[in-house]
Amino acid sequence: MAGAGEPIAFAAEAGASRRLLARLRDIMAASGGMQSRLDKIVRLIAAEMGAEVCSCYVVRPGDVLELFATIGLNPEAVHRTRLRIGEGLVGEIAATARSLAIANAPAHPNFAYRPETGEDPYQSLLGVPILRGGRVRGVLVIQHRHRRTYSEEQVETLETVAMVVAELAANSDLAARGELAAESSGGILPSRLEGVTLNAGLAQGLAVLHRPQLTVREMVAEDPAAEQARLWQAVDAMHSSLDALLAETAADHADSRDILETYRMIAEDRGWLTRITDAIVSGLTAEAAVQRVQDDLRARMAHMTDPYMRERLADFEDLANRLLLHLAGRTSAAAIGTLPDDIVLIARSIGPAELLDYDRRRLRALVLEEGSAASHVAIVARALDIPVVAQCADLLSRVEPLDQVIVDGDNAQVFIRPADDVQAVFNETAAMRARRREQQAEMAKLPAETRDRVAVSLHINAGLLLDMPHLHDTGADGVGLYRTEIPFMVRSAYPDVAAQTELYAKVLDQAGDKPVAFRTLDIGGDKRLPYFSEVPQENPALGWRAIRIGLDRPAMLRNQLRALLRASAGRPISIMFPMVAAIAELDAARRLLERERARVAAEGHPLPERLRIGVMIEVPSLLWQLPSLLSRVDFVSVGSNDLLQYLFASDRGNPKLSQRYDPLSPIMLNVLKQLIDAAEAAGVPLSICGEMAGRPLEAMALLGLGLRRLAAAPAAIGPLKTMIRSLEMAPLTDLVERLRRAEGETMRPNLKAFARDRGIPV
Ligand code: PEP
Ligand code: MG
Repeated sequence: MAGAGEPIAFAAEAGASRRLLARLRDIMAASGGMQSRLDKIVRLIAAEMGAEVCSCYVVRPGDVLELFATIGLNPEAVHRTRLRIGEGLVGEIAATARSLAIANAPAHPNFAYRPETGEDPYQSLLGVPILRGGRVRGVLVIQHRHRRTYSEEQVETLETVAMVVAELAANSDLAARGELAAESSGGILPSRLEGVTLNAGLAQGLAVLHRPQLTVREMVAEDPAAEQARLWQAVDAMHSSLDALLAETAADHADSRDILETYRMIAEDRGWLTRITDAIVSGLTAEAAVQRVQDDLRARMAHMTDPYMRERLADFEDLANRLLLHLAGRTSAAAIGTLPDDIVLIARSIGPAELLDYDRRRLRALVLEEGSAASHVAIVARALDIPVVAQCADLLSRVEPLDQVIVDGDNAQVFIRPADDVQAVFNETAAMRARRREQQAEMAKLPAETRDRVAVSLHINAGLLLDMPHLHDTGADGVGLYRTEIPFMVRSAYPDVAAQTELYAKVLDQAGDKPVAFRTLDIGGDKRLPYFSEVPQENPALGWRAIRIGLDRPAMLRNQLRALLRASAGRPISIMFPMVAAIAELDAARRLLERERARVAAEGHPLPERLRIGVMIEVPSLLWQLPSLLSRVDFVSVGSNDLLQYLFASDRGNPKLSQRYDPLSPIMLNVLKQLIDAAEAAGVPLSICGEMAGRPLEAMALLGLGLRRLAAAPAAIGPLKTMIRSLEMAPLTDLVERLRRAEGETMRPNLKAFARDRGIPV
């Protein structure tokens, strides 16, 4: 609870903080090297904060903190006392990027006594990290001889001072000592970075550094009231420009609009804006206040592993940057300077709204220093069909604006200023791909039919409206799997029935007369919704997810079913349930569907002309319930990603296991064969919509088993059709029949040899 006296105390502290900052500015403006300025700064802080000791530690190469300046500790210890990050209280502050205020420091379990410093008489310690660009650059500490409790305002004052010191450290001659040479080596030489693929593909272009240097120059405010006014003006301008972006985002890009709407909400986050205004009250300029709050947030969140929280950080990064641009009188990060025709966007991290600021026609690839597959921006980039490589260490220090960059998303690598030989390989591969794309565009008009006239039905997998145009340009027969959780994942709040109805209706509108199989929410496990809190589970993949949540929270499933039925507005619709393990679950889900059908009819909405009900075969238990299952459904679709994971008890997301069990093993193929035969005997159409269906070699094996329906990512449809059209089914069927009866871990080499001998591109 805030006490009645607190605002006055705060005002007094704010005044003290402003005075301290003003003096600090004088020191920074005066001539002299870093050392002499730091010496003056620690003296000033000690005097202004009434401390007996003030010390500044700086992070040195090798993750060591070196005492750089002190008043109060033994001057001999300067440049001699070194602590590892994590060692002692100072090391802990650096390791956690959090401030520590301790009344009785020697009694703290992490206290590490260094005799050379002569710090034994000091009881209380307040230390704050020196942060810049989200990284800890050092630690600033004050100590008092007598025990005392530091106020929150004192902590904040020292944090603000630390921010100014961070500028000094960044602009100092530290780098001149040669110790940072490794970091600054890039520049003219070619270099290759490895990362993690968020979207495959190959592209080349000129580097455009997202958020070009927005260095905050003026840190200390002359007139806080004027800074507040500048801040609010910029906030207003930012809101208007976000509104304009929202209005511009065409209705047929509803997903992008949803994402932008989330932004608009975060942009009004009171907590965030209050922290910025507080930082201005303490004496910073509006720009420095935005940066201070951002640095703080970044450092705090650097230790969070929760992917949702990390994505929120990306949202705030985006907004902080927008706000800085508005403070600088600019409007959008993308609008700076003349951009090249082929943009390879380089960023530490980037929000989806920022990505959509760039001209889509010129955007060739995205490379990130951070970034994760589940991020909003990865989902949008996939829909834009540009290669994305993320988690490239030191990216920003290696690339200069307008450097030539080749992004090889297929192999998770990025070439900066590529050497001639790399360039030559790229040119060759790119030309080959262009030819293949042309052929595939032609191919879209031709039927997916083997040389011996066996027809195959190809469907796309989709999850965003941005995917839908590919249904037509690939010439696919329909949407085999519409992952409804993806639109849920990119929203900040649960979409109500009306919002869902609108979305599903748009999907059906865009599909025209091609069928769409909507899969009900498959959340839980690794697919988390920001607004749906789950208790942590020990084995999320085996836990409370998909249909299990739907049946335990029937309101959510019923809302979705109602929206799907209303969206159909008389048109045919297919609905399938994920992760069914027992027939009773399917029956329960069908009962909910029946109730919704009755309700929608009673409301006078036209019912679907035809309602087809399907199940995803992902859990092996269904293999022993096939007759009951197949007698109850209109279609089934094999989710081979999960089926393989559960069959071999092998986490599908664990890179250590990704090569271990081959989907082309006789075991998996015999399981699939059993499913194909059972479905055929029951007259129930069966398709496969897991990743294996999109890989030509695997898909060829599936065709050899007798499968005739495949659902894959839009980009896979062309290569699949090319494979199918050069294939002869009869000899393939013979081969697969023989191979699946053989022993061994994989039949991949035999299938490859078959394809090679017959010139089948796989
Ligand atoms: C699968 O499991 O194969 C599947 C298609 O579903 P998802 O990848 O969405 O789990
Ligand atoms: Mg699945």
